[in-house]
Amino acid sequence: MCRHLAYLGEPVPLADLLLNPGHSLLCQSWAPRDMRGGGTVNADGFGIGWYTGSSAEPALLRRAVPMWTDTALPRLATEVSSGGVLAAVRSATVGMPVVETAAAPFARGPWLFSHNGVVRGWPSSVVPLASTLPVESLLTMDAPTDSALLWALLRHRLDAGDKPADAVSSLVLAVEAAAPGSRLNLLLTDGHTVVGTAWTHALWVRRSPEGVAVASEPYDDHPSWREVPDRHLVVTTSSTVDITPIGEP
Ligand code: GLN
Repeated sequence: MCRHLAYLGEPVPLADLLLNPGHSLLCQSWAPRDMRGGGTVNADGFGIGWYTGSSAEPALLRRAVPMWTDTALPRLATEVSSGGVLAAVRSATVGMPVVETAAAPFARGPWLFSHNGVVRGWPSSVVPLASTLPVESLLTMDAPTDSALLWALLRHRLDAGDKPADAVSSLVLAVEAAAPGSRLNLLLTDGHTVVGTAWTHALWVRRSPEGVAVASEPYDDHPSWREVPDRHLVVTTSSTVDITPIGEP
């Protein structure tokens, strides 16, 4: 399963989040510690979205190659700092295309989205859910993958005015009902708040004086890493962390 992380806080060089820590996302691309449900490396692409302060819309870099092969990345990640980041490395689910547009994060307007996991019974299990979408949403999906469909379904909820935490929770419950046993670790951010889910896969949160990080695996040995319990929602700002069960009033 892919690995992803989100950070909100003081601006830091992207390299300090993604490349330099002892168990950075870069390390997790070739030596992840906690792959579940298949896959050994995350070499089918990577993506980084970051907020610059000059625009509500994030910058986005996606590639269909392993993170370690991008020779421009070390310098870029050292020069660029941000206080809002969502990044991912991808291990494509069998049968899904390895293309740049299938790599998370997915972006639209102020939003960045990532999915770590798999939708069981793809695609037939989720045809009833997909058929609730406007045809245009299906025709403009980033890629023919489960993650891109989840993003289209989530956008539909956000466009309808659902609060981000409600939109994410209701999406997880709807997909679980249609495709039981799916792995649905999601991250959604607008650069001010991160909404994440732990749904049959690991998720960790780390609060430090500089900010808050949410990640599939702890990327360093900071003592404040705390595991998000399974089937829970985590909502963070740059200084707060709120963890609640999904599907309980
Ligand atoms: N199923 C998604 C894809 O193929 C995510 C893969 C993963 O988490 N390993 O892109």
